[in-house]
Amino acid sequence: MDPREELKELIVQAREHLLYFSELGLTSIGERSAPVEAESKVEAQASPVAPEPRPQESPASTIIPPPQFVPKPTITMPTKKENTAETSLFDEPSLFGETVAPMAGLQSVNETLEDIRRDLGDCRRCKLWSTRTNIVFGEGNPKAELMFIGEGPGADEDATGRPFVGRAGQLLTKMIEAIDLKREDVYIANVVKSRPPGNRTPESDEVKACIPFLFRQIAAIRPKLIVALGNPAMQALLDTKIGITKMRGHFQDYPRMPEIKVMPTFHPAYLLRSPDKKREAWEDLKKVRAFLRGEIAPE
Ligand code: SF4
Repeated sequence: MDPREELKELIVQAREHLLYFSELGLTSIGERSAPVEAESKVEAQASPVAPEPRPQESPASTIIPPPQFVPKPTITMPTKKENTAETSLFDEPSLFGETVAPMAGLQSVNETLEDIRRDLGDCRRCKLWSTRTNIVFGEGNPKAELMFIGEGPGADEDATGRPFVGRAGQLLTKMIEAIDLKREDVYIANVVKSRPPGNRTPESDEVKACIPFLFRQIAAIRPKLIVALGNPAMQALLDTKIGITKMRGHFQDYPRMPEIKVMPTFHPAYLLRSPDKKREAWEDLKKVRAFLRGEIAPE
């Protein structure tokens, strides 16, 4: 804003405040009504007899507060904390809100992947059970430093019970090998463990029913880094509505265990449809490799 305009606005606001104080009958801006209210509360607690009402109290208690100076909003990029707390995937209070303990939702801090699989059982906790062939729990190194997480199984995964085995899975294997790892070095899982019909995006009630098992898998494995593949997986893991295009390539804290980092990148199925995006995904993977080698710290 032009400095002269800003000064003019401040003068108008100062005048409004002075008028307000004058309406209160105050002769000095050092006078305030709040201590009067505080005093009367102390007196009420100290004395069994109800205090006489003070003549000055009633006008102050009915007066509308003066207009506040509201600075113009500035647009900034979200910080890591904002990414995890400001919005929720589910249009409800944040999954990771202040009232949720970091380890909430876990059965036991020492449980194994076998314990979690046993607890999942022949799961019917959401409607996806009725159309699936196999539960796709996840597979890989139970002590992996690196996890890959997608949104849900597709047709090939549903048929075999294994994650990322179709065309997208073959591309994922190549991506893993491109950063000098083998598929068996990492752990691969999905947000939902039963195939959504027609490969649609999992619905919020399905995510809510299934994701506690993924949280428990992450807690059992305790990787250094999770690569979130695509929008639904990233949004569910980070509890955000911000899109993958904005978030990819930037390290985030995993909200439940901030010592674990999350690198959002494109889903291999999307890369098959949009090969021109492979270059960006490769840039993200190079950061993953450098982080695991200790060559870079999360920015
Ligand atoms: S998607 Fe998850 S919660 Fe739903 S039925 Fe399958 S395993 Fe159970």
